[in-house]
Amino acid sequence: MTDTKYIASPERYAQQATIYNRCGRSGILLPKVSLGFWHNFGDDAPFERSRAIARYAFDHGVTHFDFANNYGVPAGSAELTMGRLMDEDFRPYRDELFISTKAGYGMWDGPYGEWGSRKYLMSSLDQSLRRMRLEYVDLFYSHRFDPDTPIEETLQALVDIVRSGKALYAGISNWPLEPLKAATAYLRERDVPLLIYQGRLNMLNREPIEEGILDFCREEGIGFIAYSPLAQGLLTDRYLNGIPADSRMAQELFLKSESRTPELLDYLYKLEAQAKASGRSIAQEALNWVLEQRGVTSVLVGASSVEQLKNNLELLQ
Ligand code: NDP
Repeated sequence: MTDTKYIASPERYAQQATIYNRCGRSGILLPKVSLGFWHNFGDDAPFERSRAIARYAFDHGVTHFDFANNYGVPAGSAELTMGRLMDEDFRPYRDELFISTKAGYGMWDGPYGEWGSRKYLMSSLDQSLRRMRLEYVDLFYSHRFDPDTPIEETLQALVDIVRSGKALYAGISNWPLEPLKAATAYLRERDVPLLIYQGRLNMLNREPIEEGILDFCREEGIGFIAYSPLAQGLLTDRYLNGIPADSRMAQELFLKSESRTPELLDYLYKLEAQAKASGRSIAQEALNWVLEQRGVTSVLVGASSVEQLKNNLELLQ
């Protein structure tokens, strides 16, 4: 454990004018680059490295940290890491942080540990708050659409969660367009307007654009945050010359080596040339593409080192 007490950089908002975007038609500004805690923050990652990445982010104006109940190995351990970071580093800065979590995927055994019931969403948020040692989160998401639960049950749970003060805003992630439209109307009628939609968007996966989700969010004043904007690392220099032993692909879990095809390498070489011409890294070029899509509020990056995050944030300079 590091014995240096954390004091956030006094320069952390030096670029305030340029690094934040308004989230839809809301009062919230989010950093154009936000930090995701899916990988690299659980018990499977060295705590001091996780801490260094989180500190670096906050020191550079990255006020938004994104979680889900099941992040980390084992599930829940990324939120436990955040709980420790809250106590040891970030408690004095709680009001400067915008912390989100989600529920939707499998988290505990039995019929109440996944999907979209009121029972699951409410119990899961209580668990997340305990793990993160927080009184409230800023944003709580339904992590996926549940076709078997009445949509009103899921949405009313979000409304009641916001009204209870356990979350300040509601969001949804990975929902198809039609239920998204219904959710927008339902939540608006109850004065808990949908703050943001979280969807996968990067140069290789453009579904939110193709399916009309990004346009819908923009027209309705809902923010859009793009997850896996680097396609889990594919859209970086990480795999140009093989599969590094410490990379996500080497784990063969969420990113399989079969995705490193000759076509992908071809694409990357072209992207590398394009990036060089604009004085950027491949990762910066890929993030810039996402941020240029009209309606995108923020890109939600992952990082396994401070250097990667630094490189990604340099795009905003
Ligand atoms: P990215 O597409 O940003 O991939 C992150 C990975 O890319 C890093 O772990 C690292 O790989 C590599 N990388 C990052 N920056 C660089 C760089 N500058 N140079 C070289 N390599 C780099 O995002 P994630 O897939 O990690 O997702 C980000 C966040 O989005 C998650 O943490 C989570 O909060 C959210 N998310 C939400 C989902 C949802 O269903 N709502 C689903 C998935 C993610 P390596 O680790 O190999 O070094």
